[in-house]
Amino acid sequence: MRLVLVGPPGAGKGTQAQYIASNLSIPKISTGDIFRANVSGGTELGKLAKTYMDRGDLVPDEVTIAMVRDRLSEDDAQDGFLLDGFPRNVPQAEILRDMLKDWGQALDLVLELVVDDDEVVRRLAGRRTCSQCGRIWHVEFDDKKDDRCDVCGGALFQRDDDKEETIRHRLEVYQVQTAPLVAYYADEGILVGVDATGPVEEVTERAMEAIRPFTG
Ligand code: ADP
Ligand code: ADP
Repeated sequence: MRLVLVGPPGAGKGTQAQYIASNLSIPKISTGDIFRANVSGGTELGKLAKTYMDRGDLVPDEVTIAMVRDRLSEDDAQDGFLLDGFPRNVPQAEILRDMLKDWGQALDLVLELVVDDDEVVRRLAGRRTCSQCGRIWHVEFDDKKDDRCDVCGGALFQRDDDKEETIRHRLEVYQVQTAPLVAYYADEGILVGVDATGPVEEVTERAMEAIRPFTG
């Protein structure tokens, strides 16, 4: 199964990606996570990406695509993958299609997580991430009174780009650059919309239901 998740920042892509990938036994490939790992590791890629990420802009396509090409070439991605946060504009989608075609592969399905702007802002403003296991939490919805991960005990942090003015800019970037992917994949006949409101488990159930007809 070769799957892509699209949706605005805060729609719940990362949250759903952990469950969907684990249900389907495929690797979850999140470009945001790979960039953040490079930023904390102080690599050249991380230094370059950070300037764009801090502003809420997209990292240049050639850098992002090279990184994804490397990741998709790894052994664990040969029988399927779930992409979270890539592609994020039409040029990235076209290159992904050509890259997969060269390898005799194609995407099976693109799930669009649908949620309104007010909910997205509420979700992003309260987002916390575990510095140890990477699990995603929400201060209000998960009732996080302490700053520790319930699963591994790691310290939780707030992402630098989850500040109000950066959130606003990321939503604009989504509307202008990423939202056209919805029409692009609808044209390809592989887009399915999933209502991403309500409890996390219910969204996962809706997503798995949408995926079922494609699992063969
Ligand atoms: P969110 O979870 O809020 O949607 P991500 O973790 O996916 O955000 O991405 C964080 C940042 O990483 C983006 O704002 C952007 O700077 C960079 N980034 C992630 N994926 C891509 C991509 N496919 N193309 C360009 N930049 C990206
Ligand atoms: P994205 O990867 O699309 O930017 P995340 O998965 O990081 O989104 O989720 C953003 C925030 O919203 C996180 O704090 C997460 O805990 C919370 N969240 C995700 N799904 C839901 C949901 N169904 N209901 C309430 N909060 C959610």
